Amino acid sequence: MGSAFNEPTLDNIPIIHLMTSSIEAKEKVQIIEEVYNWSLDIWNYLKYDRLPDDKMEARKTRSKASRYTIFEGKLYRRSTSRVILRCIRSKEHMNQILQEMHDGECGNHSGGRSLANRISRQGYYWPTLREDAMRYVQRCDACQRHSVFLHHPAPNTHHYIQPSDLNLTSRSDPDLQN
Ligand SMILES: [Zn+2]
Repeated sequence: MGSAFNEPTLDNIPIIHLMTSSIEAKEKVQIIEEVYNWSLDIWNYLKYDRLPDDKMEARKTRSKASRYTIFEGKLYRRSTSRVILRCIRSKEHMNQILQEMHDGECGNHSGGRSLANRISRQGYYWPTLREDAMRYVQRCDACQRHSVFLHHPAPNTHHYIQPSDLNLTSRSDPDLQN
């Protein structure tokens, strides 16, 4: 008596599953390292007076660091318009901010560029903010479904609030983890 069904066996499904998650895990590690590194040299220089061994890198770090300062354990950057921006160093925190500003309570599903501008106006900085905002909007389910209606620029409200006014600590969206 042979079965006509070609049922999944323990040999195939779990293997596919494992391969996918190990690739994802590797990508996550790379992203975390990249993000951690963006401010590491500046941090080490300002905090411990330690510069990279490479002379070029050391010079670059010293020149870059002139725009940064550490205050109460946090890194801040002076923008070209001399506004002080809080530097966001972890991918998780970046995702929380993107989520809050795009589809959270004060989000308006604006397009990537407008989202990035909004985040800057709220006082946050990280070097890949623009690219990350674009990517975030591209991945937003609601935006993809209603792209014609939603991608209007955000109203320019000039509404300044302190980063600490936002409740960003308790949020975590599993969809944002990659
Ligand atoms: Zn959206």
